Amino acid sequence: MVATPIGNLADFSDRGREVLAGADCIAAEDTRHSGKLLAHFGIRRPLLSYHDHSGEGAREKLLQMLRDGASVALISDAGTPLISDPGYALVKAAREEGIEVLPIPGPSALTAALSVSGLPTDRFLFAGFLPAAQAGRRKRIEELKDESATWILYESSHRILDCVDDLIAILGSERRIFIARELTKQFESHFPGALEQAAAWLRADANHLKGEFVLILAGRESNPGEDERLPEALRIVALLQNDLPLPKAASIAAKITGLRKNEVYRAAVRTT
Ligand code: SAM
Repeated sequence: MVATPIGNLADFSDRGREVLAGADCIAAEDTRHSGKLLAHFGIRRPLLSYHDHSGEGAREKLLQMLRDGASVALISDAGTPLISDPGYALVKAAREEGIEVLPIPGPSALTAALSVSGLPTDRFLFAGFLPAAQAGRRKRIEELKDESATWILYESSHRILDCVDDLIAILGSERRIFIARELTKQFESHFPGALEQAAAWLRADANHLKGEFVLILAGRESNPGEDERLPEALRIVALLQNDLPLPKAASIAAKITGLRKNEVYRAAVRTT
């Protein structure tokens, strides 16, 4: 399992390149994409396409090569294989047969972002990509809401705003977040702060919405500023909204929870 750069080609380890150059075969998630990386480093080895969903046939072919004593290197488009990338089914099958699997460690957006987030790193939960559809995404955020460890998401530019808005709706506007954008690349940028400010930062500059993102959320315990009342207020608004106009519903919910009317109203607008 060979890690490849997540942006900056200088991050490719000598060992990673040596192992690829010496492999009998390189299995890649996308042979065209990886072909360019290998060409850049002058590595010319037989390249096969492999994805966990590419079926038994492709996996069996690689396993047979391994049984025959060949060395097979697996790479993904970027970063560490198996981290939101193909490889799990192959490694599982190889292990079940007693075939040795070695890691050639290197970049991963997960560890790169976490290491500079300023959020607790002693315990963390990697939650990968949230579901694309809003209902599924919100359900997953609800499940993560009370997690006390730091938790980490991957997100694409298409959904970053919707995702942050849903995080605010469920976690409240004060939960701490660290956004790592375009790590190791020319336009790398970072946002540390409260969720509400993160949404404003994303909206403030169209460039902030481009590229690849890692989102790191403070766990519940390590977020003393978090206001538990906003999600409660939003639940009240949702109940009242059938019978009352939104401003009135927000006003009543604000009175019940002791929050400012504006804060409840703005959060309610974002979530409806
Ligand atoms: N296996 C990769 C790794 O080890 O990080 C992750 C592959 S996953 C398909 C791609 C996602 O990883 C992107 O949508 C983004 O969330 C994150 N990612 C990858 N490269 C990144 C970068 N340079 N900066 C920020 N996030 C990145």
